[in-house]
Amino acid sequence: MTEIITKYLQTNKFTNLDLRAVLFDMDGIIYNSMPAHEISWQETMREWELKAEPNEFYIQEGKPARHTINMMFQRNLKRDATEQEIDDVYKRKSELFFENDSGALIEGIEETIKIVLENELTPILVTGSGQTGLYERLNGDLPNVFTLENMVTAFDVEIGKPHPEPYLMGLKKAGNLKPNQAFVLENAPLGVESAHRANILTIAVNTGPLDDRVLKDAGADVLMDSMEEFNKKLPELLDRAKIISV
Ligand code: MG
Repeated sequence: MTEIITKYLQTNKFTNLDLRAVLFDMDGIIYNSMPAHEISWQETMREWELKAEPNEFYIQEGKPARHTINMMFQRNLKRDATEQEIDDVYKRKSELFFENDSGALIEGIEETIKIVLENELTPILVTGSGQTGLYERLNGDLPNVFTLENMVTAFDVEIGKPHPEPYLMGLKKAGNLKPNQAFVLENAPLGVESAHRANILTIAVNTGPLDDRVLKDAGADVLMDSMEEFNKKLPELLDRAKIISV
């Protein structure tokens, strides 16, 4: 952890980490929902006769849905989708998602949040999701962790990941923090890119089928195989953050 923090500080020209908040991505970090997203997108594309690559939607995860839909239309039909098509495709994908999603949390995330709260860090949610009832669902599964004030969702952003905008907005919602006052937990290449471009210490947790290399290439400062592995390193990260300065 010492090496990782030192390298982050030097690269981003900060003298120290002054941790106040943790920015959590949602799909693949809080919820084990990515298999259902992939299946639902693939099935929707089959119905619309738009060809998608295997694991395409793991790779595109984090991108606003309308951009994903336009990308598939451009690739297959050499044109953008109409507003009506965007609505219809997204509606069908959402229906299939709710049929396929188990609603399960990622193994170990409750422990992560417990450690974060014990250390008086503010948890902030930064997701591209625009699911209806998201706050209620989160509050049911993880009571009193995320409030409406500390969530960045599809409704808050204009550009979306991989642009740094969502994570910069997360820092703002955490109390106008600077990038060295938080760290990010992300599972997806575009999310890692977004956090990295916001100059925040980015911890990639590879909870899906993609190669580790794509997360490293996207700019992850450190890579973990699971949330349980991260939980073992988290106390060390918090300790070292307090003492390392460059
Ligand atoms: Mg994710």
